Amino acid sequence: MTKSQPDRRITLNDIISQLIALQKIDLQLDTIDNTVKQKQELLDQQAAQLAQRESDIDDLHEQISALEQERRTLELELNEELAHVKSRQSKMMQVQTGREQTALLKEIEDGKQGIKEKEEKMVGIMEEVESLTTEIARQQELAKEEAALLQKETDSTQKEIAAIINSKKEHDSARRKQAGIMDVRLFNKYSLLRERRNGVAVVNVLDGVCQGCFMSLPPQQYNTLLRGDKHLDCPVCQRIIYHLPQEKQE
Ligand SMILES: [Zn+2]
Repeated sequence: MTKSQPDRRITLNDIISQLIALQKIDLQLDTIDNTVKQKQELLDQQAAQLAQRESDIDDLHEQISALEQERRTLELELNEELAHVKSRQSKMMQVQTGREQTALLKEIEDGKQGIKEKEEKMVGIMEEVESLTTEIARQQELAKEEAALLQKETDSTQKEIAAIINSKKEHDSARRKQAGIMDVRLFNKYSLLRERRNGVAVVNVLDGVCQGCFMSLPPQQYNTLLRGDKHLDCPVCQRIIYHLPQEKQE
């Protein structure tokens, strides 16, 4: 056996090595894709949080508008009541009988009571508006910080993602090279298995146990695998199996 034999037969070991090499590249590509996805998701989450805060701020503004409206209504009513009390007071000068006087006094007293209640309500509203305004300022400050942070992180993440995608090119070309030297049928079988078996198509069998599904191989199949002269699939998970005892030493 020398290097000068270009047409040597492809052995089972070669095929398994090809599959292992391809899967290694594919798993690296999966890791890259997942990293990009996670980074993007993190940004999306932060953007959603910021959007929620902005929507909360809008709600607070609406609450203030409603309170201001209520206060204006109270103010109008209060002015009417003041005018009414004033007119009752001037009428007091003109009435003759005690009964009329009592009735007017009662009206004035009720009016004053109403004015007092409305004034108290208006003070309450103003206090509420004040605390809502403080809350808005606090939330706006947080939103500002979050927006700045998000912008910064979006910029850096985009750079990171661009670098990752750039590094992916290397793996992509390694993958093309590896796939190019493989038998098409084997490659298709591998691709299908990867799709159906969570990215892992080729697995080791350790002590008779498939490392893909962790089921024991029937003894006869295990013996065949150990002899290493036949291409085998796991009877349970259908993954392509091989035997490399040294792989256990991590
Ligand atoms: Zn299996």
